[in-house]
Amino acid sequence: MLKVFNTLSKKKEEFKPLDLQHIKMYVCGPTVYARPHIGNMRSIVIYDVIFRFLKSQYPKVTYVRNITDIDDKILDAITNLDIRLVDFTNNITKQFHQDSIYLGCLEPDIEPKATQEIDKMIELMDKLIEKGYAYISQGHVLFLVEKYKEYGLLSNRNLNEMIAGSRVAIESYKKNPEDFILWKPAPKNEIGWETKYGYGRPGWHIECSAMSVKYLGENFDIHGGGIDLQFPHHENEIAQSKCAFEDSSFASYWLHNGFLTVDGQKMSKSLGNVITCEDLRKKNILGNVARLALLSTHYRKPMDFNDDLITNSRISIEKFYEVLKDINYASNENLPQNAVDCLNDDFNIARFIALMFSYFKDIRDTHDVKSKEKLAGQLFAMGKIIGVFNSEPAQTNQTINFEIIKLADERLLAKNQGNYPEADKIRQQIDLLGYKIEDLPNKKYLIITK
Ligand SMILES: [Zn+2]
Repeated sequence: MLKVFNTLSKKKEEFKPLDLQHIKMYVCGPTVYARPHIGNMRSIVIYDVIFRFLKSQYPKVTYVRNITDIDDKILDAITNLDIRLVDFTNNITKQFHQDSIYLGCLEPDIEPKATQEIDKMIELMDKLIEKGYAYISQGHVLFLVEKYKEYGLLSNRNLNEMIAGSRVAIESYKKNPEDFILWKPAPKNEIGWETKYGYGRPGWHIECSAMSVKYLGENFDIHGGGIDLQFPHHENEIAQSKCAFEDSSFASYWLHNGFLTVDGQKMSKSLGNVITCEDLRKKNILGNVARLALLSTHYRKPMDFNDDLITNSRISIEKFYEVLKDINYASNENLPQNAVDCLNDDFNIARFIALMFSYFKDIRDTHDVKSKEKLAGQLFAMGKIIGVFNSEPAQTNQTINFEIIKLADERLLAKNQGNYPEADKIRQQIDLLGYKIEDLPNKKYLIITK
Protein backbone atom coordinates (compact mmCIF):
# COMPACT_ATOMS: atom_id res chain seq x y z
CA MET A 1 0.00 0.00 0.00
CA LEU A 2 1.42 3.37 -1.05
CA LYS A 3 1.81 6.06 1.58
CA VAL A 4 2.79 9.62 0.73
CA PHE A 5 3.71 12.57 2.87
CA ASN A 6 1.10 15.20 2.12
CA THR A 7 2.28 18.76 2.79
CA LEU A 8 -1.37 19.76 3.19
CA SER A 9 -1.94 17.49 6.21
CA LYS A 10 1.76 17.46 7.27
CA LYS A 11 1.67 13.69 7.60
CA LYS A 12 2.13 10.44 5.75
CA GLU A 13 -1.19 9.37 4.34
CA GLU A 14 -2.46 6.32 2.57
CA PHE A 15 -2.60 7.13 -1.15
CA LYS A 16 -6.22 6.88 -2.28
CA PRO A 17 -6.51 7.82 -5.94
CA LEU A 18 -9.71 9.44 -7.21
CA ASP A 19 -9.80 6.77 -9.90
CA LEU A 20 -7.86 3.55 -9.34
CA GLN A 21 -7.65 3.08 -13.10
CA HIS A 22 -6.16 6.48 -13.83
CA ILE A 23 -3.71 8.48 -11.71
CA LYS A 24 -3.30 12.17 -12.46
CA MET A 25 -0.21 14.16 -11.53
CA TYR A 26 0.80 17.78 -12.11
CA VAL A 27 4.29 19.13 -11.46
CA CYS A 28 5.45 22.74 -11.82
CA GLY A 29 7.99 22.81 -14.64
CA PRO A 30 10.77 25.31 -15.26
CA THR A 31 10.52 29.03 -15.93
CA VAL A 32 12.67 29.20 -19.03
CA TYR A 33 14.77 32.32 -18.36
CA ALA A 34 18.09 30.47 -18.04
CA ARG A 35 19.29 26.91 -18.45
CA PRO A 36 17.91 25.02 -15.41
CA HIS A 37 20.55 24.21 -12.78
CA ILE A 38 20.93 20.86 -11.05
CA GLY A 39 18.73 22.02 -8.17
CA ASN A 40 15.87 22.44 -10.67
CA MET A 41 16.81 19.15 -12.28
CA ARG A 42 16.71 17.34 -8.93
CA SER A 43 12.98 18.01 -8.88
CA ILE A 44 12.60 16.75 -12.47
CA VAL A 45 14.44 13.51 -11.64
CA ILE A 46 12.50 12.89 -8.40
CA TYR A 47 9.08 13.25 -10.06
CA ASP A 48 10.34 11.10 -12.92
CA VAL A 49 10.92 8.23 -10.48
CA ILE A 50 7.50 8.83 -8.92
CA PHE A 51 5.98 8.79 -12.43
CA ARG A 52 7.80 5.55 -13.32
CA PHE A 53 6.77 3.87 -10.07
CA LEU A 54 3.12 4.91 -10.38
CA LYS A 55 3.11 3.63 -13.96
CA SER A 56 4.32 0.27 -12.70
CA GLN A 57 1.57 0.10 -10.07
CA TYR A 58 -1.51 1.52 -11.83
CA PRO A 59 -3.09 0.90 -15.26
CA LYS A 60 -2.80 4.50 -16.43
CA VAL A 61 -0.96 7.62 -15.27
CA THR A 62 -1.24 11.07 -16.82
CA TYR A 63 1.68 13.31 -15.97
CA VAL A 64 1.46 17.01 -16.83
CA ARG A 65 4.47 19.29 -16.37
CA ASN A 66 4.28 22.84 -17.66
CA ILE A 67 6.76 25.26 -19.19
CA THR A 68 6.49 28.83 -17.89
CA ASP A 69 7.51 30.76 -20.97
CA ILE A 70 6.28 34.21 -19.95
CA ASP A 71 7.60 35.85 -16.80
CA ASP A 72 9.36 39.05 -15.71
CA LYS A 73 12.57 37.05 -15.25
CA ILE A 74 12.43 36.08 -18.93
CA LEU A 75 11.80 39.67 -20.02
CA ASP A 76 14.74 40.80 -17.86
CA ALA A 77 16.96 38.14 -19.41
CA ILE A 78 16.32 39.33 -22.96
CA THR A 79 16.36 43.08 -22.28
CA ASN A 80 19.76 43.62 -23.85
CA LEU A 81 19.62 40.78 -26.31
CA ASP A 82 18.62 41.08 -29.92
CA ILE A 83 16.31 38.08 -29.84
CA ARG A 84 12.59 37.45 -30.02
CA LEU A 85 11.03 36.19 -26.78
CA VAL A 86 9.71 33.03 -28.43
CA ASP A 87 13.13 32.17 -29.91
CA PHE A 88 14.76 32.72 -26.54
CA THR A 89 12.27 30.59 -24.60
CA ASN A 90 12.32 27.84 -27.25
CA ASN A 91 16.07 27.76 -26.99
CA ILE A 92 16.08 27.39 -23.18
CA THR A 93 13.30 24.80 -23.43
CA LYS A 94 15.47 22.83 -25.82
CA GLN A 95 18.36 22.95 -23.34
CA PHE A 96 16.01 21.78 -20.61
CA HIS A 97 14.91 18.85 -22.77
CA GLN A 98 18.54 17.92 -23.52
CA ASP A 99 19.29 17.94 -19.80
CA SER A 100 16.23 15.80 -19.08
CA ILE A 101 17.42 13.25 -21.64
CA TYR A 102 20.93 13.37 -20.19
CA LEU A 103 19.48 12.51 -16.79
CA GLY A 104 17.41 9.70 -18.28
CA CYS A 105 13.98 11.26 -17.60
CA LEU A 106 10.88 10.13 -19.43
CA GLU A 107 8.86 12.81 -21.16
CA PRO A 108 5.69 13.86 -19.33
CA ASP A 109 2.45 12.98 -21.14
CA ILE A 110 1.59 16.64 -21.64
CA GLU A 111 3.91 19.64 -21.47
CA PRO A 112 1.78 22.77 -21.91
CA LYS A 113 3.31 26.20 -22.42
CA ALA A 114 1.83 29.11 -20.50
CA THR A 115 1.75 31.43 -23.53
CA GLN A 116 -0.54 28.99 -25.31
CA GLU A 117 -3.06 28.78 -22.48
CA ILE A 118 -4.05 32.44 -22.04
CA ASP A 119 -7.71 31.73 -22.93
CA LYS A 120 -8.01 29.25 -20.06
CA MET A 121 -6.50 31.81 -17.66
CA ILE A 122 -9.03 34.44 -18.74
CA GLU A 123 -11.82 31.92 -18.23
CA LEU A 124 -10.58 31.24 -14.71
CA MET A 125 -10.34 34.97 -13.92
CA ASP A 126 -13.91 35.47 -15.20
CA LYS A 127 -15.13 32.84 -12.74
CA LEU A 128 -13.21 34.38 -9.83
CA ILE A 129 -14.49 37.90 -10.55
CA GLU A 130 -18.04 36.64 -10.97
CA LYS A 131 -17.92 34.92 -7.58
CA GLY A 132 -16.35 37.90 -5.87
CA TYR A 133 -12.96 36.32 -5.24
CA ALA A 134 -11.15 38.68 -7.58
CA TYR A 135 -11.40 42.34 -8.54
CA ILE A 136 -10.25 44.66 -11.30
CA SER A 137 -8.16 47.68 -10.38
CA GLN A 138 -6.10 50.00 -12.61
CA GLY A 139 -5.71 47.44 -15.37
CA HIS A 140 -4.86 44.66 -12.90
CA VAL A 141 -6.91 41.66 -11.88
CA LEU A 142 -6.22 40.73 -8.26
CA PHE A 143 -7.22 37.88 -5.99
CA LEU A 144 -8.99 39.00 -2.81
CA VAL A 145 -7.19 36.83 -0.28
CA GLU A 146 -9.38 37.74 2.74
CA LYS A 147 -12.36 36.09 1.03
CA TYR A 148 -10.71 32.67 1.02
CA LYS A 149 -10.78 31.45 4.60
CA GLU A 150 -8.41 28.53 4.19
CA TYR A 151 -5.58 30.67 2.86
CA GLY A 152 -2.24 29.66 4.45
CA LEU A 153 -3.20 26.04 5.17
CA LEU A 154 -0.58 24.48 2.89
CA SER A 155 2.36 26.57 4.05
CA ASN A 156 1.11 26.74 7.64
CA ARG A 157 0.87 30.52 7.65
CA ASN A 158 -1.64 32.70 9.35
CA LEU A 159 -2.99 35.56 7.29
CA ASN A 160 -2.75 38.11 10.12
CA GLU A 161 0.89 37.20 10.75
CA MET A 162 1.54 37.51 7.04
CA ILE A 163 0.07 41.00 6.95
CA ALA A 164 1.90 42.06 10.11
CA GLY A 165 5.12 40.64 8.75
CA SER A 166 4.88 42.40 5.43
CA ARG A 167 6.95 45.57 5.35
CA VAL A 168 6.21 46.28 1.72
CA ALA A 169 4.28 49.46 1.08
CA ILE A 170 0.88 48.68 -0.33
CA GLU A 171 0.60 49.24 -4.08
CA SER A 172 -2.14 51.72 -4.97
CA TYR A 173 -4.03 49.16 -7.06
CA LYS A 174 -4.38 46.69 -4.18
CA LYS A 175 -7.25 46.60 -1.71
CA ASN A 176 -5.11 44.66 0.78
CA PRO A 177 -1.36 44.05 0.89
CA GLU A 178 -1.79 40.25 0.69
CA ASP A 179 -3.81 40.31 -2.54
CA PHE A 180 -1.92 38.79 -5.43
CA ILE A 181 -1.87 39.49 -9.14
CA LEU A 182 -3.77 37.37 -11.65
CA TRP A 183 -3.30 39.77 -14.54
CA LYS A 184 -1.22 42.88 -14.94
CA PRO A 185 -1.12 45.59 -17.58
CA ALA A 186 1.82 45.91 -19.95
CA PRO A 187 2.98 48.78 -22.15
CA LYS A 188 2.01 48.28 -25.79
CA ASN A 189 5.64 47.98 -26.90
CA GLU A 190 6.16 45.01 -24.56
CA ILE A 191 4.97 41.48 -25.05
CA GLY A 192 1.37 40.99 -23.99
CA TRP A 193 -2.11 39.84 -24.93
CA GLU A 194 -5.15 41.93 -25.86
CA THR A 195 -7.98 40.77 -23.60
CA LYS A 196 -11.19 42.06 -22.05
CA TYR A 197 -9.06 43.05 -19.05
CA GLY A 198 -6.84 45.14 -21.26
CA TYR A 199 -3.45 44.59 -22.82
CA GLY A 200 -1.22 42.73 -20.40
CA ARG A 201 0.26 39.53 -19.06
CA PRO A 202 -0.80 36.79 -16.63
CA GLY A 203 0.63 36.37 -13.14
CA TRP A 204 2.63 33.20 -12.61
CA HIS A 205 0.20 31.46 -10.21
CA ILE A 206 -2.85 31.59 -12.49
CA GLU A 207 -0.86 29.79 -15.19
CA CYS A 208 -0.54 26.56 -13.22
CA SER A 209 -4.17 26.65 -12.04
CA ALA A 210 -5.32 27.06 -15.65
CA MET A 211 -3.05 24.36 -17.08
CA SER A 212 -3.76 21.77 -14.39
CA VAL A 213 -7.54 22.16 -14.66
CA LYS A 214 -7.43 22.08 -18.46
CA TYR A 215 -5.45 18.84 -18.70
CA LEU A 216 -6.35 17.02 -15.48
CA GLY A 217 -9.71 18.46 -14.43
CA GLU A 218 -10.87 20.26 -11.29
CA ASN A 219 -9.75 17.37 -9.06
CA PHE A 220 -6.62 15.33 -9.48
CA ASP A 221 -4.34 13.20 -7.31
CA ILE A 222 -0.84 14.62 -7.00
CA HIS A 223 0.62 18.11 -7.29
CA GLY A 224 4.37 18.35 -6.95
CA GLY A 225 7.16 20.88 -7.02
CA GLY A 226 10.16 22.19 -5.11
CA ILE A 227 9.82 23.29 -1.49
CA ASP A 228 10.47 26.89 -2.58
CA LEU A 229 7.19 26.85 -4.50
CA GLN A 230 5.09 26.03 -1.45
CA PHE A 231 4.56 29.70 -0.68
CA PRO A 232 3.28 31.76 -2.31
CA HIS A 233 3.00 29.83 -5.61
CA HIS A 234 1.19 26.69 -4.46
CA GLU A 235 -0.79 28.48 -1.76
CA ASN A 236 -2.11 30.83 -4.45
CA GLU A 237 -2.81 28.00 -6.88
CA ILE A 238 -4.99 26.35 -4.23
CA ALA A 239 -6.83 29.60 -3.49
CA GLN A 240 -7.57 30.28 -7.16
CA SER A 241 -8.64 26.77 -8.07
CA LYS A 242 -10.73 26.02 -5.02
CA CYS A 243 -12.56 29.35 -5.27
CA ALA A 244 -13.16 29.10 -9.02
CA PHE A 245 -14.62 25.61 -8.80
CA GLU A 246 -17.08 24.87 -6.05
CA ASP A 247 -16.60 21.57 -4.25
CA SER A 248 -13.20 21.23 -5.85
CA SER A 249 -10.54 19.64 -3.70
CA PHE A 250 -7.99 20.57 -6.41
CA ALA A 251 -4.98 18.30 -5.77
CA SER A 252 -5.45 15.61 -3.09
CA TYR A 253 -1.73 15.17 -2.29
CA TRP A 254 0.89 17.92 -2.26
CA LEU A 255 4.48 16.76 -2.60
CA HIS A 256 7.51 19.00 -2.13
CA ASN A 257 11.13 18.13 -2.73
CA GLY A 258 13.98 19.64 -0.72
CA PHE A 259 16.63 22.20 -1.62
CA LEU A 260 19.97 21.44 -3.19
CA THR A 261 23.20 23.13 -2.16
CA VAL A 262 26.62 22.89 -3.80
CA ASP A 263 29.57 22.30 -1.48
CA GLY A 264 27.38 23.44 1.39
CA GLN A 265 26.36 26.70 -0.24
CA LYS A 266 23.23 27.91 -1.95
CA MET A 267 23.75 28.17 -5.71
CA SER A 268 23.86 31.76 -6.90
CA LYS A 269 25.16 33.70 -9.85
CA SER A 270 27.14 36.02 -7.60
CA LEU A 271 28.98 33.09 -5.97
CA GLY A 272 29.61 31.62 -9.42
CA ASN A 273 28.65 28.15 -8.18
CA VAL A 274 25.64 27.49 -10.39
CA ILE A 275 25.99 24.01 -11.90
CA THR A 276 24.05 22.83 -14.93
CA CYS A 277 23.97 19.45 -16.65
CA GLU A 278 26.10 21.01 -19.36
CA ASP A 279 28.87 21.51 -16.78
CA LEU A 280 28.60 17.87 -15.70
CA ARG A 281 28.75 16.68 -19.30
CA LYS A 282 31.89 18.72 -19.90
CA LYS A 283 33.46 16.90 -16.95
CA ASN A 284 32.58 13.59 -18.66
CA ILE A 285 30.15 12.65 -15.93
CA LEU A 286 27.63 10.14 -17.26
CA GLY A 287 23.95 11.04 -16.99
CA ASN A 288 23.08 7.99 -14.91
CA VAL A 289 25.87 8.82 -12.46
CA ALA A 290 24.48 12.35 -12.03
CA ARG A 291 20.99 10.90 -11.74
CA LEU A 292 21.96 8.45 -9.00
CA ALA A 293 23.67 11.32 -7.15
CA LEU A 294 20.49 13.44 -7.30
CA LEU A 295 18.45 10.51 -5.97
CA SER A 296 20.79 9.57 -3.14
CA THR A 297 19.08 11.73 -0.50
CA HIS A 298 15.43 11.36 0.52
CA TYR A 299 13.40 13.57 -1.80
CA ARG A 300 11.95 15.70 0.99
CA LYS A 301 15.34 16.39 2.59
CA PRO A 302 17.86 19.03 1.56
CA MET A 303 20.89 17.61 -0.21
CA ASP A 304 24.42 18.74 -0.90
CA PHE A 305 25.97 18.21 -4.31
CA ASN A 306 29.75 17.82 -4.35
CA ASP A 307 32.62 15.92 -5.98
CA ASP A 308 32.56 13.12 -3.40
CA LEU A 309 28.92 12.47 -4.14
CA ILE A 310 29.66 12.17 -7.86
CA THR A 311 32.63 9.89 -7.21
CA ASN A 312 30.55 7.63 -4.97
CA SER A 313 27.74 7.51 -7.52
CA ARG A 314 30.16 6.63 -10.29
CA ILE A 315 31.63 3.81 -8.21
CA SER A 316 28.10 2.55 -7.44
CA ILE A 317 27.07 2.49 -11.11
CA GLU A 318 30.32 0.74 -12.04
CA LYS A 319 29.76 -1.85 -9.32
CA PHE A 320 26.24 -2.57 -10.57
CA TYR A 321 27.40 -2.99 -14.15
CA GLU A 322 30.41 -5.00 -13.09
CA VAL A 323 28.35 -7.51 -11.12
CA LEU A 324 25.69 -7.79 -13.85
CA LYS A 325 27.91 -8.07 -16.87
CA ASP A 326 28.71 -11.79 -16.77
CA ILE A 327 25.31 -13.07 -15.69
CA ASN A 328 22.53 -14.23 -17.98
CA TYR A 329 19.68 -12.50 -16.17
CA ALA A 330 16.17 -11.89 -17.46
CA SER A 331 15.70 -8.24 -18.29
CA ASN A 332 11.95 -8.42 -17.57
CA GLU A 333 12.17 -9.66 -13.98
CA ASN A 334 9.57 -8.22 -11.57
CA LEU A 335 10.52 -5.63 -9.00
CA PRO A 336 11.08 -7.56 -5.74
CA GLN A 337 8.54 -6.89 -2.97
CA ASN A 338 11.07 -5.35 -0.55
CA ALA A 339 11.95 -2.83 -3.27
CA VAL A 340 8.26 -2.03 -3.84
CA ASP A 341 7.95 -1.58 -0.06
CA CYS A 342 10.66 1.11 -0.07
CA LEU A 343 8.91 3.13 -2.76
CA ASN A 344 5.51 2.55 -1.16
CA ASP A 345 6.89 4.22 1.94
CA ASP A 346 6.68 7.80 0.68
CA PHE A 347 9.01 7.06 -2.25
CA ASN A 348 11.99 6.25 -0.07
CA ILE A 349 14.47 6.15 -2.93
CA ALA A 350 17.50 6.52 -0.66
CA ARG A 351 16.54 3.31 1.18
CA PHE A 352 15.79 1.72 -2.19
CA ILE A 353 19.35 2.44 -3.34
CA ALA A 354 20.73 0.93 -0.12
CA LEU A 355 18.66 -2.16 -0.91
CA MET A 356 20.23 -2.31 -4.37
CA PHE A 357 23.58 -2.66 -2.62
CA SER A 358 22.37 -5.54 -0.55
CA TYR A 359 21.31 -7.26 -3.81
CA PHE A 360 24.70 -6.43 -5.27
CA LYS A 361 26.43 -8.13 -2.32
CA ASP A 362 24.12 -11.17 -2.50
CA ILE A 363 24.84 -11.58 -6.22
CA ARG A 364 28.56 -11.35 -5.60
CA ASP A 365 28.51 -13.82 -2.73
CA THR A 366 26.11 -16.37 -4.21
CA HIS A 367 27.63 -19.27 -6.10
CA ASP A 368 24.42 -20.94 -7.21
CA VAL A 369 23.95 -19.94 -10.86
CA LYS A 370 20.14 -19.93 -10.80
CA SER A 371 19.92 -17.75 -7.67
CA LYS A 372 22.58 -15.45 -9.08
CA GLU A 373 20.54 -15.01 -12.26
CA LYS A 374 17.33 -14.36 -10.35
CA LEU A 375 18.97 -11.77 -8.08
CA ALA A 376 20.68 -10.09 -11.04
CA GLY A 377 17.35 -9.80 -12.86
CA GLN A 378 15.83 -8.22 -9.75
CA LEU A 379 18.71 -5.78 -9.38
CA PHE A 380 18.31 -4.85 -13.02
CA ALA A 381 14.55 -4.27 -12.51
CA MET A 382 15.35 -2.00 -9.55
CA GLY A 383 17.83 0.03 -11.58
CA LYS A 384 15.27 0.40 -14.33
CA ILE A 385 12.48 1.69 -12.08
CA ILE A 386 14.67 4.49 -10.74
CA GLY A 387 16.02 5.05 -14.24
CA VAL A 388 19.72 4.51 -13.64
CA PHE A 389 20.10 1.71 -16.19
CA ASN A 390 19.14 3.43 -19.39
CA SER A 391 20.97 0.97 -21.56
CA GLU A 392 20.88 -2.77 -21.71
CA PRO A 393 24.07 -4.71 -22.28
CA ALA A 394 23.50 -7.72 -24.51
CA GLN A 395 23.04 -11.09 -22.90
CA THR A 396 25.90 -12.87 -24.55
CA ASN A 397 28.08 -15.61 -23.18
CA GLN A 398 31.16 -13.55 -23.72
CA THR A 399 32.53 -11.33 -21.04
CA ILE A 400 32.12 -7.71 -21.96
CA ASN A 401 34.55 -5.30 -20.47
CA PHE A 402 32.95 -2.60 -18.39
CA GLU A 403 34.92 -0.07 -20.42
CA ILE A 404 32.89 -1.08 -23.49
CA ILE A 405 29.59 -0.63 -21.66
CA LYS A 406 30.74 2.77 -20.51
CA LEU A 407 31.69 3.78 -24.04
CA ALA A 408 28.42 2.41 -25.38
CA ASP A 409 26.52 4.47 -22.81
CA GLU A 410 28.46 7.58 -23.79
CA ARG A 411 27.71 6.92 -27.44
CA LEU A 412 24.01 6.49 -26.71
CA LEU A 413 24.01 9.73 -24.78
CA ALA A 414 25.71 11.66 -27.60
CA LYS A 415 23.24 10.18 -30.07
CA ASN A 416 20.21 11.07 -27.96
CA GLN A 417 21.50 14.61 -27.75
CA GLY A 418 21.79 14.80 -31.50
CA ASN A 419 25.59 14.97 -31.33
CA TYR A 420 26.14 12.52 -34.19
CA PRO A 421 29.83 13.31 -34.89
CA GLU A 422 30.65 12.48 -31.24
CA ALA A 423 28.50 9.33 -31.37
CA ASP A 424 30.33 8.22 -34.50
CA LYS A 425 33.70 8.88 -32.95
CA ILE A 426 32.85 6.68 -29.95
CA ARG A 427 31.49 3.98 -32.27
CA GLN A 428 34.85 3.85 -34.03
CA GLN A 429 36.62 3.56 -30.68
CA ILE A 430 34.38 0.61 -29.76
CA ASP A 431 35.02 -0.88 -33.17
CA LEU A 432 38.78 -0.74 -32.63
CA LEU A 433 38.34 -2.61 -29.35
CA GLY A 434 36.66 -5.44 -31.25
CA TYR A 435 32.99 -4.83 -30.53
CA LYS A 436 29.97 -3.81 -32.53
CA ILE A 437 26.97 -1.81 -31.33
CA GLU A 438 23.49 -2.50 -32.57
CA ASP A 439 20.73 -0.05 -31.66
CA LEU A 440 17.45 -1.34 -30.30
CA PRO A 441 14.16 0.53 -29.76
CA ASN A 442 13.61 2.46 -26.50
CA LYS A 443 17.11 3.87 -26.28
CA LYS A 444 18.68 0.47 -25.71
CA TYR A 445 21.48 -1.28 -27.51
CA LEU A 446 23.24 -4.57 -27.97
CA ILE A 447 26.95 -5.08 -27.67
CA ILE A 448 28.19 -7.76 -30.03
CA THR A 449 31.65 -9.26 -30.12
CA LYS A 450 33.02 -9.13 -33.62
ZN1 LIG B 1 3.27 25.99 -10.83
